[in-house]
Amino acid sequence: MEPATTSTFPNSDPLRDFAESRGTSVPRDAMAEACRQLRVGVGELSPPIDLRPLLQKMDVKVVHEETSGDAILRRRTGGGWSIGISKDAYSRSRRRSRFTIAHELGHIILFRAFEDLGMSVRALQSPEHWQAVESLCNFAAAELLLPRETLESALRTRGLGGETIGDLRRTFDVSWQALWIRIAEVLPSTSVATWKFHARPDRNEREAFRVTQSYGGGRSRPWLPEGLTSRYLDPDLISEAADGGDALAIEVDLNLSRTSKKIHALAINSKQLLTQSEPGLFDPTPIAHFRPLDADVVIFMTASEAVSSGAIAPVWEATRSAWQVRNGVSSSQSLAPEEVSSEGQLALQLDI
Ligand SMILES: [Zn+2]
Repeated sequence: MEPATTSTFPNSDPLRDFAESRGTSVPRDAMAEACRQLRVGVGELSPPIDLRPLLQKMDVKVVHEETSGDAILRRRTGGGWSIGISKDAYSRSRRRSRFTIAHELGHIILFRAFEDLGMSVRALQSPEHWQAVESLCNFAAAELLLPRETLESALRTRGLGGETIGDLRRTFDVSWQALWIRIAEVLPSTSVATWKFHARPDRNEREAFRVTQSYGGGRSRPWLPEGLTSRYLDPDLISEAADGGDALAIEVDLNLSRTSKKIHALAINSKQLLTQSEPGLFDPTPIAHFRPLDADVVIFMTASEAVSSGAIAPVWEATRSAWQVRNGVSSSQSLAPEEVSSEGQLALQLDI
């Protein structure tokens, strides 16, 4: 059933009005439900989500055109909508364009919640609300392309790991960035960061493994600022993963200037992700539509207290078992930390 449209803005906040038109006070909850209804309504239940039936249902046509940005959303004269997608952006990354189109669907969902289109356009595009609207539409794109339950259940069953992550990206047909953001959204108290061996050109610093991007973050999540070097992690999982492929530690001390945090962490060498998901990426001829992963190592981190509280324990249990199987350790076997260190791996504490 279509939700009631609203003709006024009683809260002087269009996102609050949108939420209330769907019987909640939380815009993200309203958007998640709208996206779920749209997917279920056209039978798009399992990944990769095909956007075409969704576009058809919403009366949207996608056209290629020259645009300065990634996309332009327009109202068609005869009714319905059109999304102009930059041809250039599409040829750089088909997966990113899928996300862009899904993001524009988020805008349309918002517009359609209001009876008076002109008024809703003005309210939703006002500078005051623009950032919140953009963030909600990015959330909508993730809800459409990476359904929470499907992603969550894959991670709970298989855990985090190079093979799983590569498979997930291929299965959901999304960009790396979209996947990192969504994993951090779906897993409680978890964040993701990418690392590269480099020195930032505008600073007088030495080359080291440094954070390039952090996804997730917030009060309960481990947060790594851009440029941070791996010496703030004890043990240094990033150097381990850069050498050996992946590195798991059930207890890592994250020592930042003002905070010290214990985290569960898995660091994966990006080559491992690429070889397992898209062998063609190492082909000397660049493949259109796929953007390579611009990182040496990717790390998944969860605050240890969230794991011990059980909030995310199954994911780390599955991660640990998969890691042990891959590294030739039976999951029932207890592994002394010094035994692991002597193999040049990393100090592990398995008894959580
Ligand atoms: Zn937008």
